[in-house]
Amino acid sequence: MNKKIKSLLGAVLSLTLLLAGCSAPAESAESSTDKLNVVATTTMLADLAIEIGGERITANGLMGPGIDPHLYQASAGDVSLMQKADVVLYNGLHLEGKMGEIFENLSTQGSTVICIENGLDESMLLAWENDSSVHDPHIWFDVSLWKQAAKTVTDGLTQADPKGKADYEANLEAYLEELDETDTYIRNRVTELSESQRVLVTAHDAFQYFGKAYGFEVRGLQGISTDAEAGTSDVSALADFIAERQIKAIFVESSVPPKTIEALQAAVKAKGFDVAIGGELYSDSLGGADSGAETYILTVKANIDTIVNALK
Ligand SMILES: [Zn+2]
Repeated sequence: MNKKIKSLLGAVLSLTLLLAGCSAPAESAESSTDKLNVVATTTMLADLAIEIGGERITANGLMGPGIDPHLYQASAGDVSLMQKADVVLYNGLHLEGKMGEIFENLSTQGSTVICIENGLDESMLLAWENDSSVHDPHIWFDVSLWKQAAKTVTDGLTQADPKGKADYEANLEAYLEELDETDTYIRNRVTELSESQRVLVTAHDAFQYFGKAYGFEVRGLQGISTDAEAGTSDVSALADFIAERQIKAIFVESSVPPKTIEALQAAVKAKGFDVAIGGELYSDSLGGADSGAETYILTVKANIDTIVNALK
């Protein structure tokens, strides 16, 4: 595990250096290795690439911990990294809301482009708010959907590097087992809450798949994207809901500024009920260095621990 974390952090660090020093530093980073060069948009996907790719790949994540993918604008350095990559890995479902055109152009340029959206069972996808023609992109909080993502990454890496097929498949098999254990861990912790305690209020609507998979009613202050701000009427309606249902705790998210949830807490107080801030959930990125949540599995475990400990 430590090795994995180190290689993920190393990837993020070397990327940061690349972006920070703009004067053509790329040569040393890429020429010295015959490993498959994978560039992933989010921290979740960089982690997944390392899990499946193992020693055969290097993974660079464009977005670091705490970065909001809905609002992320690719820099010129990012585009250059993607153009040089053997494999580009992204979520799709409009998660990377400002990067759509970049992926379209990339797929015509010879690198293997893996879009997680394409490998998902469509019947499991949730609508984006009330628009059934668009889907909620936050699929990673249902572990069974992340297993589908792992298979998509395995297929994509195999396509880019057919010699690695047996390695990728063995890594997939081991990882699916770990994901099953993680799913069981989540379900066991949920049983510590009564049904009426299973209500999750967060900064934005990132947890609908989580709610559906694990039996929580979920409310986000902002919508599915952080692109639009919550209005005062949204705050007031959600404050009513919390006060009426006497919900013990609401949650800050690591990739959304805490002020929105603090405003909600104040609005609940004005209605005569005290709701606690139950801690910080990782929503659209994994935890950073030394957070104890540097991988996908550690992140989803940290989240369920935070949720259950605050609500029970
Ligand atoms: Zn989100």
